[in-house]
Amino acid sequence: MIPLRTLRFGPKLTEKLLASGLDSLEALLRHYPVRYEVIQSIPFDQWQKGDRIAVEGQVIQPVRSNRVRGNLTVTRFALQTAYGLFNVSIFNRPWIANLNGIVTVFGRYDGDHSITANQYKGQPLSQLTGIHPVYRLGHGLTSADLQKAIGTALQHVELAMIQPIPEPLTERYKLLPLTTALRWIHRPIDDQHLKQAVRTLKYEEFLRFQTKLQFDRHENLTAQSGIMKLFDRRRVEARIPHLPFELTAAQRKVIDEVLNDLQSPRRMYRLIQGDVGSGKTVVAALAILATRLAHHQSAVLVPTEILAQQHLSTLRSYLPEDFKIELLTSSVAPKVRKQLLEDLENGTIDCLVGTHAIIQDDVVFKNCGLVVADEQHRFGVNQRRLLSAKGDRVDFLLMSATPIPRTMANVLFGDLDISTIDQYHASKPKVTSTLIPSLEISSMDAPIQKALADHQQVYVVCPAIETDEEGELTDVQTVHKALSKRYPDFRIEMLHGKLPNETKEAVLKRFYDQTVRILVTTTVIEVGINVPTANVMIIHHADRFGLSQLHQLRGRIGRGQVEGQCYLLSDADNPESLARLQVIVESSDGFKIAEKDLELRGPGELFGLKQSGIPSFLIANVITDQKILMTALQDAIALVDHPEDPQNKAWIADCLVEHSTQLLD
Ligand code: ADP
Ligand code: MG
Repeated sequence: MIPLRTLRFGPKLTEKLLASGLDSLEALLRHYPVRYEVIQSIPFDQWQKGDRIAVEGQVIQPVRSNRVRGNLTVTRFALQTAYGLFNVSIFNRPWIANLNGIVTVFGRYDGDHSITANQYKGQPLSQLTGIHPVYRLGHGLTSADLQKAIGTALQHVELAMIQPIPEPLTERYKLLPLTTALRWIHRPIDDQHLKQAVRTLKYEEFLRFQTKLQFDRHENLTAQSGIMKLFDRRRVEARIPHLPFELTAAQRKVIDEVLNDLQSPRRMYRLIQGDVGSGKTVVAALAILATRLAHHQSAVLVPTEILAQQHLSTLRSYLPEDFKIELLTSSVAPKVRKQLLEDLENGTIDCLVGTHAIIQDDVVFKNCGLVVADEQHRFGVNQRRLLSAKGDRVDFLLMSATPIPRTMANVLFGDLDISTIDQYHASKPKVTSTLIPSLEISSMDAPIQKALADHQQVYVVCPAIETDEEGELTDVQTVHKALSKRYPDFRIEMLHGKLPNETKEAVLKRFYDQTVRILVTTTVIEVGINVPTANVMIIHHADRFGLSQLHQLRGRIGRGQVEGQCYLLSDADNPESLARLQVIVESSDGFKIAEKDLELRGPGELFGLKQSGIPSFLIANVITDQKILMTALQDAIALVDHPEDPQNKAWIADCLVEHSTQLLD
């Protein structure tokens, strides 16, 4: 890796780039555009209401700016163009008033010679047409910052340590050299160049992924020989009457499958699928119990601290009292951590629950025999390898709420067995979902007041953390402010991914103990949070979420005694959005919803892969690029079979290194 400082950016830019994880030349080059903006000159007679348009003209005085609320201003003016006068509104750009000469305005055509602009440039349109990359921003990075940084990175692309794809493959598929592909992905001259770059980089990404996977298989990390766990099944059975509920037949079946795996000489590598709330945790608990009876420790890996905390208390409630379960996250104090690690190494601890903090080198088990990974899609092949190294031929139990078709699972996870909990326990309260065609805060007064009066709590979910330019009620900050004003007598707090971990934990604790009555939040609560007294959920701009994501979100409510009420707020008026939301209203079957999501969004759309239960890729899409994926799978098998070839050898070695190609959060 060539460190970022080699590129000699100023201190401010450097700091922002580092904060975004763009810490090397390679990371910058791999920060692919999330999409492209094609700027075209389209004649006015082809404009339709709602179209994205660009038009050049001259700003006509007077220009009026008004403060809408907070720090949001709207500026209105007339623009003289070749197609006549247009009324333009633009948010938060009052200085546009001072522009003389030609400006090009970008935005949405609202019909009737009106435009809502979101951007402008002081150049004629003819100088701006072409394909422009759009990057994901964050940590104060502006799009100009990234254009500059990536421009510089491209000048040094030859310095970057980019391992070429073995030549026979490059030739067979007529791929671009990777450095060329990187140039073209960031600076496409035209559609054809872009397509070639995308094709090459998608293949590269899948080939890397599959090479790692197949290498692991080769090295026997995922399959075949394991350690037979010797335990008396009756002693596991004996625990079942002590559980706080009766197991469903589906849970029983899955538990049997897992216990069989543990007792077999074959290594367990099993995925448990089950809709949100179907009761997967108890399966893990009994597997952990069996593992201890066989004198082995267990590790439970979860994606967030909040979830770790929760699993700790749930597992403690399912397992016998003398069972020693402890928590390790990055916020554990050094002194506590030290003791913990000692106890782990001398075998006092039976089960360690934690975030990726448990993967670190100095976390040493006496004899780890089982790794449970909840919401397993957050863990990549690398983590799996590291976890595997925590014990001798450990058994793996993966748990996911997102249904993954079996064929897909095998391609993505290697040799994997799948168990499905396909039945809800009778005590699972219903969640009713209602579509509300409005974004007005007041439309939710009745349910909020009822919840508060019933000593219940409310989740309010927003698609963004900070205000966007359209200034609608889309973000946590704005909604939090509005609600706080409306319900001054109740404690209302925010929870989102940008808060420090301690703050998050504290907020959630106050929500658990009912001090906080309304939690305004983002999709951070999507994973596994369990607050049985929170049974109302209001989702702002529900149309901006994926269906599976909405289903996950509403899985947070209806977890106690009371029926859940989920309100999907949306002012979308296009029929597709409404049809999608209607699926959520009508169905509560996660499998069906996932299928529908695929069907409705269709190929070509970017999936919310992070939420889909499928490993996330930077550029390739496991659903729409299945052909490339299958090809890469075959090629990776062949590669790994011939490590004596020097090109293959170098490629495999490179794939096994953890690259910092993570997207911004
Ligand atoms: P998942 O992880 O699959 O989303 P959990 O394991 O967190 O689900 O279980 C969800 C809730 O259902 C928990 O409150 C748990 O106590 C409860 N539960 C699980 N299994 C049963 C059952 N068989 N009968 C009654 N309640 C159950
Ligand atoms: Mg769970």
